[in-house]
Amino acid sequence: MRVYNFSAGPAVLPEEVLKKAASELLEYGDSGQSVMEMSHRSKEYEVIHDGCIALLREVMAIPDNYKILFIQGGAHMQFEMIPLNLMQKGKADFVVTGQWAGKAHSEAKKYGEANLIASSKDKTFSYIPELDKSKFTPDADYFHICENNTIFGTKFWSLPETGGVPLVSDMSSCILSEPVDVSKYGLIYACAQKNMGPSGVTIVIIREDLIRDLSETKFPTMLQYKIYDENNSLYNTPPTYSIYMCKLVLEWIKENGGLAAMKAHNEKKAAILYNAIDNSKMFSNPVVKKDRSLMNVTFVTGKEDLDKKFIAEAKKAGFVNLAGHRSVGGMRASIYNAMPVEGVQALADFMKKFEEEN
Ligand SMILES: *Cc1c(COP(=O)(O)O)cnc(C)c1O
Repeated sequence: MRVYNFSAGPAVLPEEVLKKAASELLEYGDSGQSVMEMSHRSKEYEVIHDGCIALLREVMAIPDNYKILFIQGGAHMQFEMIPLNLMQKGKADFVVTGQWAGKAHSEAKKYGEANLIASSKDKTFSYIPELDKSKFTPDADYFHICENNTIFGTKFWSLPETGGVPLVSDMSSCILSEPVDVSKYGLIYACAQKNMGPSGVTIVIIREDLIRDLSETKFPTMLQYKIYDENNSLYNTPPTYSIYMCKLVLEWIKENGGLAAMKAHNEKKAAILYNAIDNSKMFSNPVVKKDRSLMNVTFVTGKEDLDKKFIAEAKKAGFVNLAGHRSVGGMRASIYNAMPVEGVQALADFMKKFEEEN
């Protein structure tokens, strides 16, 4: 029996997608082979690869002057690749709103001046800090944010106005959750395993003019965006099966009304859960209301033992992966696109019952 999986990532995938993948597992189309067994240079795979790129472009309405790259190494490798490729003048601005944003900031320090514009560390990242524009570096190479904070459950509901400085956004846990205006960004990156597919591939959407020729430098070939761009992300073997799965997820999104429909679906789920928390005397959400995430809903009872009991009983009742990140504890329900409304409603009902009994 499948459970309601609230994992932050790798996370729940649409059941229809898993069934489709299962039906094609032994033989994809009439190719006589599984996608996993196919050459990445084959005609069959090319259709999958280019199809995934075209679908992402369509679903996210990505303008023509942006390139879509498939890279391995997770979001973590982007913490390195971004400063390595984008720092020309050697300075960039950072807002530190959680662990991932913090890592992006500290990795960038290896490559140049990484200015801390604001942080919400003082209150365990429970809010998105106000940004003082006079602190922005006017000639920075880029301005980095982590748009949705997977661990702490906060989100930037409006983007920093960086003027001519390219905005770089870690969208690992919010990509495809709602429509975005890609033209406001210089670079968007997201590992697949939250809201897009299985782990193994990270998607980078980069404005063409930010792709630099680094062939005369000592920078590792595999860390240069230009290599991926020139080779359509086929310089070496890409994570073919992950890309195939992302394509199926994108087809599912398109069939279900695209990103506007995803947004409405996600807002409905988030409202059910936040209302359940706000109407409870036992559970509370530690995040400043206006900064609450649409994807990762954190909550606590205030008592560690009771949190543990809740997580254990929830698991028995078929709600799994509700423990908060190991660094913060408490509970976290990740409610990505593939989580059905019924799953969230059932969790809210379970929380109510638990409160009555404890
Ligand atoms: C999960 C996550 C990461 C880390 O991703 P890896 O693929 O494990 O490197 C980084 N940023 C955000 C926002 C995430 O949610």
